[in-house]
Amino acid sequence: MTTPNITSELTSENIPTEPKWEPSALIRCDRCGDASQAYTRATKGDFELVLCGHHTRKHELALASDGWTLDIRLDVLEEQAAKYKQVASDDDNF
Ligand SMILES: [Zn+2]
Repeated sequence: MTTPNITSELTSENIPTEPKWEPSALIRCDRCGDASQAYTRATKGDFELVLCGHHTRKHELALASDGWTLDIRLDVLEEQAAKYKQVASDDDNF
């Protein structure tokens, strides 16, 4: 009797994917200028737009329906907001 050779090597982890776009404090919203950090990259052909959280929410449907590819990283914005909240509540205890 032979034991079946069960392998669990077939996972989706080895499939190459495009690197995620990473927001940076140096990348500012194309609409707000220096006022806001960009959290979304929209691309269509040779064109690229970067948008802050506010302008992402305002324009994402229009851009998507116009054929733009959206790389939305509002998760990063939420992470940063959570950290600021943490800092703010730490200050309350002072
Ligand atoms: Zn903006």
